[in-house]
Amino acid sequence: MNAPTNDGAHPRPTFKDMINGVVDAGACSECGACVVVCPHGIIEMIGRKPGKRVGSLGDHDHCGVSTGIGCDACAAVCPRLWPREPQLREATFDEAAAGGDCSFEGIFGVYRNIFVARTRDPQALARGQDGGVVTALLAWARENDAIDGAIVAAVGEGDTPCFPTPKVVTTPEQIRASAGSWYTYSPNPLALKQLKKAKVERAAFVGVPCQITPLRKMERIDTTRLLRGGKSPGVHGRQRDCMRGPSERVAVSIGLFCSEVFRPELMTEHIVKTMGIPLEDITKLNIKGEVLIHRRDGSVATIPLEQAAHDYQRPECRHCGDFAAELADISCGGVGTDRATVVVLRSERGVALWREFEASGQVEVWPIQEHKKAWNILLRLARKQRERIARSDTTTLMPAYSAAEEARRAQQALAEAGCTPAEIEERLQALRGLRERQPARGPGLAPAPIPDDPGAPAEGEKRRLPPPPAPQQGGASPARKA
Ligand SMILES: Cc1cc2nc3c(=O)[nH]c(=O)nc-3n(C[C@H](O)[C@H](O)[C@H](O)COP(=O)(O)OP(=O)(O)OC[C@H]3O[C@@H](n4cnc5c(N)ncnc54)[C@H](O)[C@@H]3O)c2cc1C
Ligand code: SF4
Ligand code: SF4
Ligand code: SF4
Repeated sequence: MNAPTNDGAHPRPTFKDMINGVVDAGACSECGACVVVCPHGIIEMIGRKPGKRVGSLGDHDHCGVSTGIGCDACAAVCPRLWPREPQLREATFDEAAAGGDCSFEGIFGVYRNIFVARTRDPQALARGQDGGVVTALLAWARENDAIDGAIVAAVGEGDTPCFPTPKVVTTPEQIRASAGSWYTYSPNPLALKQLKKAKVERAAFVGVPCQITPLRKMERIDTTRLLRGGKSPGVHGRQRDCMRGPSERVAVSIGLFCSEVFRPELMTEHIVKTMGIPLEDITKLNIKGEVLIHRRDGSVATIPLEQAAHDYQRPECRHCGDFAAELADISCGGVGTDRATVVVLRSERGVALWREFEASGQVEVWPIQEHKKAWNILLRLARKQRERIARSDTTTLMPAYSAAEEARRAQQALAEAGCTPAEIEERLQALRGLRERQPARGPGLAPAPIPDDPGAPAEGEKRRLPPPPAPQQGGASPARKA
């Protein structure tokens, strides 16, 4: 044995864990990230789930590379396996606080700024789901050369109406045409593979939380987990490029709040057959207390949300604890607002991009104190979603992820297996390559708790929510704070 193993406290999930504990257990979100990073073409999406390529030998939960030369890149990026969102918080937001910025942490994750916004771009507002902010930000970023393109979910010419697919869009026109939310699942990480061909070096990635987490794992999980004594530097390099490479073309991630998506049958059975509405007739879907179906003639049909959720919610979403895309650079949602988007800036790069966007004059903003309803609903839904997994999933009891600890254990295992320091260094270089991110500039300031949070209620008492933070406590856009 010459590789670090699971020691309980610091698990290293394997391909077998992923197939048995995620796919076969019905928890797979269908994000496709495991397939994107597989360096040896062992798995592919079969229907909507990952599985071994048709015709490959051996049991369905056995990968010869995993048990042979070692790999498990797939399990390393899977959003359902350790580390999960709260355990990745430190490794993700390890930037030292800059320019007096302070970050806070609440039940919806780490944030530097939270506020409400609406675009002044008429096309993005007309087509956008809430305030059109996601689309306007992407279009502005492309027009101003801050990105080369974006990964979005859109219904294109070859797609079935109302069923979005992942797309790489590179022009402002294509970006504006991708506005709006669709509530069937689109495995956006699969489009990461198209970035190279599309010559996109700096992409914005838009996705729901179960797609933001694997992207963050590709970016932050330490590649020393791939180290093995008997594996050549060439194979180390290839595995490293597959596990890390897709995230290196992403300049910013925009996460969408998400509590569920629906099974396709909501559209094909309920809306088409029971309600008699052809899919071609639908211009937009929204969820505001009920499912709203906007039709070409301007009328709006509705389905009670409880009924849609009860009959058509994807069971896979019950394994999801992240409502607010806790690991995104920027998270956006529409809770408690009317034609406006709740915006959460989490990372330095998210703040930097937003500052420039807002300075362009293309967006109106309001402090979160003016949207108390949105704040309260966000806190409630984020707690409710975390509780989905808190009771059932033992990986939530595991420690926080530390890249430094992972690297130390991997090198120690190699030394114990007889590798010389020179051999270890050679493999480390192949793994890290020239493009590996610099270690954290930190230690950054640990995020502060939400100001005036009354905390957990005493037994038998009702939970009281913290009030929306003041502008100087992160409750407004960074421009307002300055
Ligand atoms: C499946 C799903 C569930 C959601 N659930 C909630 C919720 O419970 N509460 C809440 O407050 N907000 C939810 N949202 C987010 C909300 O619908 C808006 O996307 C968000 O408020 C941003 O609004 P906007 O007008 O700024 O975005 P827009 O400018 O309209 O941009 C929306 C972006 O979403 C992308 N997109 C569309 N469909 C999908 C999809 N199926 N998967 C991935 N990306 C997609 C588009 O490509 C586009 O880039 C959900 C979004 C999705 C896609
Ligand atoms: S262990 Fe590696 S080679 Fe095997 S399926 Fe996972 S990513 Fe592919
Ligand atoms: S990475 Fe995504 S597609 Fe693969 S098993 Fe995990 S949840 Fe499913
Ligand atoms: S609820 Fe979670 S698992 Fe379901 S689509 Fe949204 S982010 Fe993915």
